[in-house]
Amino acid sequence: MLKQRVIKKVPGLLSLWVAWFTKRILSRNINNFWALREKQSHSYTVKKLLRCRDLAFSWIKAKLGNGRNTMFWFENWTPFGGIKDFLRLPSSSFLGTRQNATVSDINHNGAWSLPSPRSEEQLALQTHLTTITLSTDEDSYIWSPEDKQLPSYSTGMIYKLITLHKPQVPWYTAVWTTKGIPKHNFLAWMMVLNRCPTKDMILSWGLQTNPNCLLCNNAVESRDHLYFVCPFSFEVWEALAIKSGCHPVRQWSHSLTTMQSLALPKHQKLLSLLSWQSTIYLLWTERNHRLHRQQFHQSSTIITNATSMIKNQVSSLRNSSPRLYFLMMLYWLRD
Ligand SMILES: [Zn+2]
Repeated sequence: MLKQRVIKKVPGLLSLWVAWFTKRILSRNINNFWALREKQSHSYTVKKLLRCRDLAFSWIKAKLGNGRNTMFWFENWTPFGGIKDFLRLPSSSFLGTRQNATVSDINHNGAWSLPSPRSEEQLALQTHLTTITLSTDEDSYIWSPEDKQLPSYSTGMIYKLITLHKPQVPWYTAVWTTKGIPKHNFLAWMMVLNRCPTKDMILSWGLQTNPNCLLCNNAVESRDHLYFVCPFSFEVWEALAIKSGCHPVRQWSHSLTTMQSLALPKHQKLLSLLSWQSTIYLLWTERNHRLHRQQFHQSSTIITNATSMIKNQVSSLRNSSPRLYFLMMLYWLRD
């Protein structure tokens, strides 16, 4: 994925996005990928991709030919991995060579133009270099994740590996509930990250706004106030939590840890998560309607809306998970 020749072999990667990424982020030179420093101005996706480098690095091995396309300092072409890291040099030191030197730039007629070794690592590297002879073939790249050499790039396998290695945050299952409502999952995620424009955030950005909570008009609006210190919000959450069989708490962090560790049967656990996420979503919607449309609804209306939204979501499981559907519906419609 990181080299033009590899990309050419993978038609699915020849996307507009890759073209944009190469042009704008890598300054038209795909070799910059390994050396590029993350910048604050980079988008979320670019940052995520750059942060995958450490993981992906060990999976992509350069097979030397003429050495003209392999970056000496940054690519994975020796048994030591990236030479820059292996030698533990200061960030600006490249032993008198260019930062973006290729392997062939450092090899002149079979001799390596590096200064005499000054550390065990440099000695090990130079000893290894004496065993290498460049050929006239083009350099190539081998995908070898987990030391298994792949005949070609496999998006499925790489995706599985990235997922497997992804450090999972403790709130992952509370937010990204399988069988959840995607827009509810998404807003819950934004709230966990505290990235929504609540009044306290707007003020912290130096903008003018009335700081009061739009739901109770009695405190400064913040994520933690909305979920669920606010008496209006808590009324909604309390009703839905009890209906789904979990214990409602008012403190955001406590409520989040409760959702992470629900010790309930599967059908009740899923109902609790659906209720929690729907409450977050519908309260935020109510707050926005009050702010932008001057529309006000009673807490009882929001509870009714959430109840029917959850019922619809449970109904959607009828064919795919009939037993779960039956147990959830029975529990949701009890009384
Ligand atoms: Zn309030």
